[in-house]
Amino acid sequence: MAGTYGDSTRSVKAVESVPFPGGPVAPPPILAAAYHIPSDEDDSLDSYGRRSNPTWRQLESALAQLEGAASALTFGSGMAAITSVLRTVAEPGRKVVVPADGYYQVRAYANEFLAPRGVTVVEARCAEMCDAASDTGRGDVVLAESPSNPRLDVVDLHRLAMTCRARGSLLVVDNTTATPLGQQPLSLGADLVVASATKALAGHHDVLAGYVAGSQPEMMERLERERLLTGPILGAFEAWLVLRSLGSLGLRFDRQCQNAAAVAFMLRSHPAVRSVRYPGLPEDPSHSVASTQMHRFGGVVAIELASAAAVHELVSKSALLVAATSFGGIHSSVDRRARWGDSVPDGFARLSLGIEDTEDLLSDIEQALGAD
Ligand SMILES: *Cc1c(COP(=O)(O)O)cnc(C)c1O
Repeated sequence: MAGTYGDSTRSVKAVESVPFPGGPVAPPPILAAAYHIPSDEDDSLDSYGRRSNPTWRQLESALAQLEGAASALTFGSGMAAITSVLRTVAEPGRKVVVPADGYYQVRAYANEFLAPRGVTVVEARCAEMCDAASDTGRGDVVLAESPSNPRLDVVDLHRLAMTCRARGSLLVVDNTTATPLGQQPLSLGADLVVASATKALAGHHDVLAGYVAGSQPEMMERLERERLLTGPILGAFEAWLVLRSLGSLGLRFDRQCQNAAAVAFMLRSHPAVRSVRYPGLPEDPSHSVASTQMHRFGGVVAIELASAAAVHELVSKSALLVAATSFGGIHSSVDRRARWGDSVPDGFARLSLGIEDTEDLLSDIEQALGAD
């Protein structure tokens, strides 16, 4: 039955408590650093908060369900999840392929911390990911991001997974931009999913979190062991905030996707906009691959205006867009990416559409871009 539910139903069901008479419907946070140890010293019970927590477990089971994974592990941020995976799987003398045009701090970590320890770091753009993967072998790791942040290029994940499988390399997919309601990389053949839950999953611009999802028990056990020993854990209260948010993910994400599509369609014919990228636009270079692997095209739109000043003007004239460097939250936001060193034009802006009414966003953005 559960397999036939829609995404909003699955989001709601994933965050229910185990029912007992008089018990709470929604799971309360369990804040614990230390747990009572019974006299038989049973090892399967919770003992210490760096090792396990019931609120994590509930969140992890919800995330695993949404990703179609056997299990998931939560971390204190997306970067904590990604770097834990890289530390665990990238071995000296082996190769790690990272996105050249994806989230910039991932390649910074690979270059600053993995390369000096003898890992060969290869940067490949989305369009070159499959070529780079065909040059890998057993023990190598390919980390792909699709759609890429910030340009929204799409990687053919099934093709990439087949290439990695043929070469014996491990495929890790960053699913932050798409979310599990947008695509399920494990079903396309990825070995592991990593993601920042800070964005659309938590969705309220108020908490950082990350996770890893996978279906290979040995790999997941190694990652859990690594997390126990290095400690990049998610606080129990933060885990509860993400869990609470997941219940409304289906509803929020549908509105965000609807708003993003409406804004992308409006902006593609706007004279102040040089270009628009959104995988849901039929003429977008990513559209054909995106249509085969994505269930929804997401809440982020990339645009190019004439200059940095034009982006600042858009923000100052808009009553709804906030200037902020995150995405996926309930508030619509704008981020001028050249500010952070992404190799994009000065007037390139990533728009993240929130859950405001579509008509309000369209008229606000249109007047903010209009001639004064
Ligand atoms: C934000 C982001 C991250 C990092 O996540 P944090 O929660 O900020 O650590 C990683 N990958 C992508 C694609 C992101 O957008």
